[in-house]
Amino acid sequence: MRSVLLWASENEWCAKRMPRYKFVKRAVRRFMPGEALDDALDAVAALSERRRIPALVSLLGENVKNVEEARAVARHYAGAAASIAARGLDAEISLKPTHLGLDFGSEEARRNVAMVVEAASAGGNWVWLDMEYSRYVDSTLDLYRSLRAESPKVGICLQAYLHRTAADLEALVSSGPAIRLVKGAYAESPDVAMARKEDVDDAFYALAQRMLAPDAQRAGLRARFATHDGKLIRRIDEWEAANGRNWSAFEYQMLYGIATDEQRRLAKEGKGIRVLVSYGRDWFPWYARRLAERPANMWFVLRHLVPV
Ligand SMILES: Cc1cc2nc3c(=O)[nH]c(=O)nc-3n(C[C@H](O)[C@H](O)[C@H](O)COP(=O)(O)OP(=O)(O)OC[C@H]3O[C@@H](n4cnc5c(N)ncnc54)[C@H](O)[C@@H]3O)c2cc1C
Repeated sequence: MRSVLLWASENEWCAKRMPRYKFVKRAVRRFMPGEALDDALDAVAALSERRRIPALVSLLGENVKNVEEARAVARHYAGAAASIAARGLDAEISLKPTHLGLDFGSEEARRNVAMVVEAASAGGNWVWLDMEYSRYVDSTLDLYRSLRAESPKVGICLQAYLHRTAADLEALVSSGPAIRLVKGAYAESPDVAMARKEDVDDAFYALAQRMLAPDAQRAGLRARFATHDGKLIRRIDEWEAANGRNWSAFEYQMLYGIATDEQRRLAKEGKGIRVLVSYGRDWFPWYARRLAERPANMWFVLRHLVPV
């Protein structure tokens, strides 16, 4: 089931057709409050008011077809940064480099993302680069380094499932980077990524420890652990309790609509937790990856065949 869903996430026919089915539209609501920026910002405001949980926002889409589309996405994000500031929301921006033109060269992507970073910086806000397929890792790291040289409020995602990530992290540590660690969501070959969940979990834990190590913290590393895995969260918390007890050194991040009890628990305990709210019309590839993470979610989709 997982590989079928990951295949569907890369299939253009599915991306065009599936969102037209009402039952798929109804099912995606669980993970996405709506397609418009205002739907996302309203959800951000509600999370903040009801649960005191800050957010990240992301416009769904990837691998745009031409530079005009990439530039339009950059303008959209720049406008979103202004709306976030105008509404006084704590909502950082998370974007996919291929949505801003990485397929059309690093200079094109750099110009477009720099426009977003400049707009976000005007409101004191952060911009995070998502990490996509492994073939984009080198260019995304280059993009991060070049943007970071201009602005301190830029972060990058690293994927624990890649064999190369420990070395990538090591190369970044001394620069005091902002890093979001995730397990990794894409279909990758065993040459580049670990296949067993236990191996990915152990790699995540080891990388998290490295990010919280005294020399990394002294260098100013801003650690973000994006996972819904309660067992892993307990492991990291226990390690931190035994070692640093520096709870402000890191933050957990989760997706809107997933593990909401855990989100509430962390917020109540005063631990850092931030929730990513996605929006936009091009949601199918992203949604298929969410289903692949937990194929039991397919029952949820099928239940929506019958309107309730
Ligand atoms: C804020 C954020 C940003 C991300 N950015 C990126 C990125 O840039 N690049 C990238 O490759 N990946 C990204 N991811 C996705 C990530 O790589 C994982 O695929 C995803 O978080 C699921 O892994 P997990 O750590 O929650 O652990 P898992 O072992 O997959 O899940 C642990 C438990 O969490 C719950 N759970 C997890 N996923 C779901 C789901 N979809 N539906 C319902 N329950 C679920 C289940 O209870 C499951 O047992 C991001 C995730 C988050 C939260």
